[in-house]
Amino acid sequence: MERVFNFSAGPSMLPVAVLEKAAAEMLNYEHSGMSVMEMSHRSPVYEKIIHDAESLLRQVMQIPDNYAVLFLQGGASTQFAAVPLNLLSENGKADYVLSGQFSTKAYQEAQKYGDVAVAASSKDINFSAVPKMEELKLREDADYVHICFNNTIYGTKFPYIPNTGSVPLVADMSSCILSEPVDVSKFGVIYAGAQKNLSAAGLTVVIIRKDLLGKARKETPTMLDYKVMADNGSMYNTPPTYCIYIAKLVYEWILSLGGLEKMKERNEQKAKLLYEYLDGQNYYVAPVEKESRSMMNVTFVTGNADLDKKFATEAAAAGLVNLKGHRSVGGMRASIYNAMPIEGVEKLVEFMKEFAKNNPKI
Ligand SMILES: *Cc1c(COP(=O)(O)O)cnc(C)c1O
Repeated sequence: MERVFNFSAGPSMLPVAVLEKAAAEMLNYEHSGMSVMEMSHRSPVYEKIIHDAESLLRQVMQIPDNYAVLFLQGGASTQFAAVPLNLLSENGKADYVLSGQFSTKAYQEAQKYGDVAVAASSKDINFSAVPKMEELKLREDADYVHICFNNTIYGTKFPYIPNTGSVPLVADMSSCILSEPVDVSKFGVIYAGAQKNLSAAGLTVVIIRKDLLGKARKETPTMLDYKVMADNGSMYNTPPTYCIYIAKLVYEWILSLGGLEKMKERNEQKAKLLYEYLDGQNYYVAPVEKESRSMMNVTFVTGNADLDKKFATEAAAAGLVNLKGHRSVGGMRASIYNAMPIEGVEKLVEFMKEFAKNNPKI
């Protein structure tokens, strides 16, 4: 089988150039006589890899010096607990904006640890838009505010960065990190599971303002304590060594193409192709409010569950795979992360036109 255009929400496509480089270096990385997978994480050759990965990410995202970069395990879901354990004081408060399933899970996990409130929710409109700034009920004495910046399942994204004053803003950026420039200084903590836009599954990147380190509750598991991880250069124990290496190759690939400004341009171009097509016809419906549309995850439905199913099956046969929507919402979802080439989106739009023509709704 040839390589397909993989529209999976995650794990998702990686750039071919990255896969080729990893393949070429698989058996003998830079004359070390072994694969990166087989190396001691304490060896000088590996220490250079993790060091380069951090400095490249700092360069790509322009991360200020007063932020620590951590390479952790456990996926974004582990951060749902790590965030309150590290930032929510014994009698503290935290405010959560509910804009989809992952932010709801983060909220439910945080509730185990204290006074955790819903700042706003768009559940009543089936998460088809993110709550607006003026709808957020924020408590000035909260320890932090949590948002999910891009909602992978529903295909929405915050069109703004909430202004939380002096209260640190914590953002789950699993499905939009590195898709465009972002002003890191507006956030207290940014976290992201790697399997969408960074690397393979198994790595979680945390970017945290350094003054927020060292506040973890005493019962915090050592492995979840940001300060322990920061003090040990993410090597308190064995880090996900191979995923960090792949992430390094992805950062190099982004820089080789011109950095995040260029990524944004490419991603806008791809998203525009799909949304312009969706807006100019009436066979498919795009349920997300325009203002909240995601550039990474584009959702649409035919309005008929059988047709949706047929669409995903026939698209897969045409080399456009994983277009079925999340099991909780149905319909279709095209995840078009950095590694998806524009040809994949062009093919998809062509397929959508053909499918609409061949499957009239009676
Ligand atoms: C995929 C995803 C998660 C869950 O990530 P895991 O690494 O599987 O725990 C959380 N938040 C967002 C926004 C996601 O896209």
